[in-house]
Amino acid sequence: MKKIKAKKEMIKEGISKAHLQELNTIFSCEDCTYFMPAQEACNLGHKTAPHRRDEQMRLFNELGKMKFCRFLEID
Ligand code: SF4
Repeated sequence: MKKIKAKKEMIKEGISKAHLQELNTIFSCEDCTYFMPAQEACNLGHKTAPHRRDEQMRLFNELGKMKFCRFLEID
């Protein structure tokens, strides 16, 4: 019997434009306590590419969705 591998994909969550602008929603690594700008890396070792501001805005503009990081933390 052939095994079928499930493809894991990060969840994209919908967000309204009003929500994003009026509530000053925090959504990117650049806003996160764990982001190390000099290294452009996450201090917790997570991949930053899906959560960087440019990528988040690209997704939002194309789909009205974002890939929120569950570990994002602000001071
Ligand atoms: S915890 Fe998440 S949001 Fe924060 S820097 Fe790491 S990957 Fe980015």
